[in-house]
Amino acid sequence: MSEPAPAAARPVIPVYRPDLSGNERRYVLDCLESSWISSNGAYIGKFEAAFAHATGAAHAYGVCNGTVALHLALHALGIGPGDEVIVPSFTYIASVNTIVQCGATPVFADSREGDWLLDPSDVMARITPRTRAIMPVHLYGAACDMDAIMAIARQHGLLVVEDCAEAFTTTIHGRHVGTFGDVGTFSFFGNKTITTGEGGMVIANDDALAKRMLQARGQGQSFARRYWHEVMGFNYRMTNIVAAIGLAQIERLPGIVAAKRHVSARYRALLSGLPVTYQRPGNGVDGPEWLVSLLLPEGADRERLMARMAQDAVETRPVFYPAHTMPMYARNEHFPRAEAISARGMSLPSFPTITEAELARVADSFGNALKEQGLA
Ligand SMILES: *Cc1c(COP(=O)(O)O)cnc(C)c1O
Repeated sequence: MSEPAPAAARPVIPVYRPDLSGNERRYVLDCLESSWISSNGAYIGKFEAAFAHATGAAHAYGVCNGTVALHLALHALGIGPGDEVIVPSFTYIASVNTIVQCGATPVFADSREGDWLLDPSDVMARITPRTRAIMPVHLYGAACDMDAIMAIARQHGLLVVEDCAEAFTTTIHGRHVGTFGDVGTFSFFGNKTITTGEGGMVIANDDALAKRMLQARGQGQSFARRYWHEVMGFNYRMTNIVAAIGLAQIERLPGIVAAKRHVSARYRALLSGLPVTYQRPGNGVDGPEWLVSLLLPEGADRERLMARMAQDAVETRPVFYPAHTMPMYARNEHFPRAEAISARGMSLPSFPTITEAELARVADSFGNALKEQGLA
């Protein structure tokens, strides 16, 4: 007689696992065999060109990660001490940290209830004579209301850096995020739409601005004279190995995006009837969800629910905590919608190669955990 296997013995379904089944291995081996492993080599230009093509931007430059992409953008735009940058409190912490890294002051704004993203009317309310820039963050694959945000920016003469780390391939009326503002930044961390392990990209349409980013990425070195440094810069370069993985990933972009869309659709079908709320992207916004995320019903104990799912070997994630609640950014201020989304939101396993059986296991575990709390 066989006992049912204990839950913990089942393989864990992770929140994310990158799909590296294309040319990734072949291109990386090519780097190793040719010895082009550093930040020169053909894959860098190829990946950048493919990324510029995919986004419709005039210029795309690869960098070490999505955080330095943000810092490079802010730096090249001349953001510094005395400047205020308006950023949503509900975001990943890198958006805020890089503003501080420039010596500028982050000014938090609230999010919208429907799409969980920067609220343009609250941006308006936060503008002061010191405001220099707005940083809309396109979270979970949706896109901020860029019509409204760009109108505010034009009216007040503000710069715009779009944090698109979670929104590669997301468009608004067919136009790619990151091409509305001055600079768009992307991340290729292991759980992002395409991954290079660690990696990032900046995109821009303005030639002079793009050139400033390119120069600052490479220690401010002259384009004509080696070891002659014309401006202060950083080493934010991407390696050829990283770009090789990125190129292999972007070659399979349609397949990855289709798989992500399929995962979103399956969860909506499997969880239909449960009292959960999904992010509702704004008008004209189209893109794959980054991680399938939802708000639990009021009164749910998220930590207990996640612990219960962990017993079923299903990994989950809470959404981000609002930045204004972190110790170093604590303010005597409330952002009620950011706080509500943050308190009730969680993400489910959403990797492109997740199987139908795994999706069903996640859905069962989630439904049971809600039932245990009397909420389903
Ligand atoms: C992932 C992420 C970043 C940072 O990217 P890294 O590559 O991890 O440095 C920045 N902003 C948002 C919204 C992100 O999700």
